[in-house]
This record gives sequence, C-alpha cells and structure tokens, in this order.
Amino acid sequence: MIKTVVGSYPVVTREPKHLWEKILDILGLYDRYKYAIERAVKDQLRAGIDIVSDGQVRGDMVEIFVNGLYGFQGKRVVGKIEFLEPITLKDIKFVRRILSKYPGDKGVKGIITGPCTIAASVKVEDYYSDNRDETLIYDLANALKREAESIQDYVSMIQIDEPILSTGLYDLDTARRAIKRICENIKVPVVLHVCGDVTEISQELNTFNVDILDHEFASNRKNLDILEGISKRVGFGCINTRVKWVESVEDVKDLLHEALEILRNNPLFSDVKGKEDLLERLERYMVVDPDCGMRPLPVDVAYKKLKVMVKASEEFERELRERV
Ligand SMILES: [Zn+2]
Repeated sequence: MIKTVVGSYPVVTREPKHLWEKILDILGLYDRYKYAIERAVKDQLRAGIDIVSDGQVRGDMVEIFVNGLYGFQGKRVVGKIEFLEPITLKDIKFVRRILSKYPGDKGVKGIITGPCTIAASVKVEDYYSDNRDETLIYDLANALKREAESIQDYVSMIQIDEPILSTGLYDLDTARRAIKRICENIKVPVVLHVCGDVTEISQELNTFNVDILDHEFASNRKNLDILEGISKRVGFGCINTRVKWVESVEDVKDLLHEALEILRNNPLFSDVKGKEDLLERLERYMVVDPDCGMRPLPVDVAYKKLKVMVKASEEFERELRERV
C-alpha cells in the first residue's frame, strides 16, 4: 500500500548561518522556510513515506492560499477573488529537486485548501454577502482550479482539504459542484480530505468526482463503519495526530486489521479470492496516512509517528502474505 501524509509537518526554520545567507537576509532575500521544507521532506523520506508533501510550512492551511490570491487582505475578503499566480508550485519544484537525489520511486502530493474551508475561515467585508455566499465559493473554486492546473505536471496526486464539510455548516451540493470545478480535466488522481466524523456525510461524499476519500480513523473509530459502503479508494488515516504520545506498531496494525474486516463486506472486495487477490485489492483501494496534518506536534514525535505508520503497514501486508 502507498504510504503518504495528509500535509502539514512541524515547522523547523533556520536562521541565516553562513555569510552569504546573512547578506541575503540583510537584503530581505533569505528564505527561512526553505530549511523547514527540506527538513519536512527528508524526515518523511527517512520514515519511508512514498508520496511526500512540502510540509505546508509557510503558514496555516488558510493563510498559504489567501496570501496568494487576489481579493484578500490577510484573511479579510475585500474584492472579487481571483487567481494571480501559482501559489505552491515553487515549493513543489524544490521538493522534487530533493527527491531527485533519493533512490526509488517517490512522489509529491500537491495540496489545496478547499473553497468551503477557506470561505468559512475568512471575514467577508466586501463584494460577497457572507461566508456562505455561493458566488464566493465558486470564485474560490475557479481560482483554486488554476492552482491545480499549474501544479498537476509536477505531482503524483492533488489533495483538496475540506475539513469544514464534516461540521454540517456547508451545503454539500454546493461543495460538490465547487470540488467538481477544481477536479475537472485534472490529469492526476484527486484526493478529498475531510477529517472529523464523516459517518453522516459518507454517502454524499461517494458522489463527489474525486478518486480518493481521505478520513481519520485512529482518533475517530466511528468512521470505520463507512468502509462498508465507501465506493472510492480510501485514504486511511491510521495515526492519531491530536495526541503527543506515539502509538505502538501493534496499535496501528490492529486498526488496519479492523479496517480490513469491514472492507471485506464492501462490494469492492466481494469477489476477492485468496490472499494474492486480497493484497492486490488493498493496494488498489487503500492508501495509508496519518489522520490529519502534523503541524502542531513536536518534530521528533511527528517523525516517530510516521515511522510507526510505515512499519505497521509493511508488517500488516507481510503478515497477510504469510498467512496460510
Ligand atoms: Zn484534517
């Protein structure tokens, strides 16, 4: 199974150290976040992650996007939202340069904060009526689509983060249309990440035109129930990102086994014959990752959690293979 991350990683910046860095700093050209990206990527690779992120180190999931779109002043909406220029492309290209020095087939995940989640997190002062104005959501979707188009040639998959959808605050039809607009004609698989309790909205999410539905299962066992009826590939969050202690490999393996038991009742798994067939089906329909972003965690904890996840998922597959 592919191992990936949801997105954010603890931010470890580095002050200018060498003379040339100090000169760059005086000129206002020193980028403190470059080291943070490098650290995030190298930690993920050392832990054994296949599809890494840039760590989303330049700000929270909303800041990164509102700072790069026209129509915002900070988190205030002051005019019509429009795309200006690629927001995450430069960092994605930097990640690819790091990956090119590593052996094996590693990829980058492009990450876009979804239109409803951005709309819910900003203060609407002008042009739109309020945070739930459909025009605001669709303008955001159009702008974010340009972002998706600009990064698609450089990433293995694109993830849209819409945690707000599990709160029930946003109309799912509007969300579906907005996400459709972003996904249309995108060449790489698209993931929709919705954390929180998704048991009530899972049926609806099956109708979104994305390839992977990514949810939290470690901190939200109730979500396991949706595996019986999920009709897309599942991004299986199996590491609790809300607690600072590191779970054991056994804990994560138990969760994976529990998930597998439920998935076997899913029509996607109904005709599975034998263990080879089962392993192939798991590879096709399951991707493992942590529950959510890891930004609030201490960096050593985040790293250890990723290592546990990779080890657990590899042992889980090996044990299935060895099973008689
Ligand atoms: Zn999340």
